[in-house]
Amino acid sequence: MTVHFPFQNTYAALPASFFARVAPTPVASPRLIKLNRPLAKHLGLDPDWLESPEGAEILAGKRVPDGAEPIAMAYAGHQFGHFVPQLGDGRAILLGEVIDADGVRRDIQLKGSGPTPFSRRGDGRAALGPVLREYIVSEAMAALGIPTTRSLAAVMTGESVLRETPLPGAVLTRVASSHIRVGTFQYFAARGDTEGVRRLADHVIGRHYPQLANVDRPYHALLEAVIGRQAELVARWLLVGFIHGVMNTDNTSISGETIDYGPCAFMDHYDPATVFSSIDEQGRYAYANQPRIALWNLTRLAECLLPLFSDDQEKAISEAQSALSDFAERFSSAYQAGLRSKLGLFTVRDGDPALAQDLLDAMAKNQADFTLTFRRLSDAALDPADGRGVRQLFADPTGYDEWAARWRQRIGDEPQDPAARRAAMRAVNPAFIPRNHRVEAVIEAAVNRDDFALFEELLAVLSKPYEDQPALSGYGDPPEPHQRVLQTFCGT
Ligand code: AMP
Ligand code: MG
Repeated sequence: MTVHFPFQNTYAALPASFFARVAPTPVASPRLIKLNRPLAKHLGLDPDWLESPEGAEILAGKRVPDGAEPIAMAYAGHQFGHFVPQLGDGRAILLGEVIDADGVRRDIQLKGSGPTPFSRRGDGRAALGPVLREYIVSEAMAALGIPTTRSLAAVMTGESVLRETPLPGAVLTRVASSHIRVGTFQYFAARGDTEGVRRLADHVIGRHYPQLANVDRPYHALLEAVIGRQAELVARWLLVGFIHGVMNTDNTSISGETIDYGPCAFMDHYDPATVFSSIDEQGRYAYANQPRIALWNLTRLAECLLPLFSDDQEKAISEAQSALSDFAERFSSAYQAGLRSKLGLFTVRDGDPALAQDLLDAMAKNQADFTLTFRRLSDAALDPADGRGVRQLFADPTGYDEWAARWRQRIGDEPQDPAARRAAMRAVNPAFIPRNHRVEAVIEAAVNRDDFALFEELLAVLSKPYEDQPALSGYGDPPEPHQRVLQTFCGT
């Protein structure tokens, strides 16, 4: 069989300063753990061929397919607020780009495929646990309808990687509409390379925002567009209880996709101060801080673009500030619209944000499970007696009762029939999210017992997050106290 990646690469045609050419490092014995067959087909790839030994060798980086132009991309970034002028793909290699069935250009990247000139002190490798975590959570996000990078495949390398202990090594094949980050702009800006910033901006406009190519001030419009997409993305995160965990500027994508799943996690009971990441000691990237951090990261992007705005620095700064000042409104309108849908409100009223906030406050006070509260509220929309299901989630159920009386009054003012409301609510309030204790159980079984049955089962559940799945309903349950996972690790 021959290799069939219909590559059409554009990033590798940019100036040499944008990347380093480097091939993946061959590994001992590739073993395919999972191929995302529907995604493969969508990308125009033959899933049967990818599952063949030759396909697995490519997905492990042991063999480079025809037409690939492997590169490690250069980028910089603020990590926990501290600027690092050179990060780059230290353990990822972009094979190339393909055009998917929707006509969208998609990067195909191997993560964990060996050292690159950007590896610094790292080994360029990934361990199986973090690869499975990224596979599960990114695919769950996609099924929830949230913009994200995708996972095409996970392979084991047959080699071990040394972390605190030796762990099985793995490679994730990641698919993104691009891997360009805020940190990619910072890389050129930090070097005073305005031409590099301009080339990158032009590439980004052509690729992600083609409608801006011929507007009056394309670089201003680009900043506004990225601000809009990030504002909407973070709103979507909050609406499902997602905590990215490492919102550094190098993990902030220009296309507005969720990228770089490290110590990310979904919260169980609602608490806006929730932090899972073991390295986030200050809570910089806590759940409720995410909009503020997104704006901080976008401000770093704006700084990079200033020289493209105007030679008059003060004018450029004031234009950037004006664009950044839209973030709050863009975020808030996306977030409030999302909350209204979660509450089953079809119309807009002044008191709605307060109604939603009061529920969240009551949930926080009563350790109510975020996901289940909204899911069960959907059923309560049909039949007030079903309110019992929600009540049980509150430490003190009267905290729910008081709020529910106001909610019933509010929905009672709308003409929609209860069945329509319930259906609309169930379409936005998932039953299933990748709960931490389930993800950890998958990783434990895979790493310690070479057992991937739980991995497959969890992926199957999460592929239909809005459907009841009676046989697997336990996946919707919050952890028992002894099952709770309080910390997650990058595992790099
Ligand atoms: P991350 O925390 O995965 O977003 O990575 C931050 C930076 O560290 C990026 O430049 C990565 O390429 C690099 N990095 C992370 N893990 C490794 C590793 N095992 N080997 C080499 N570079 C790494
Ligand atoms: Mg990263």
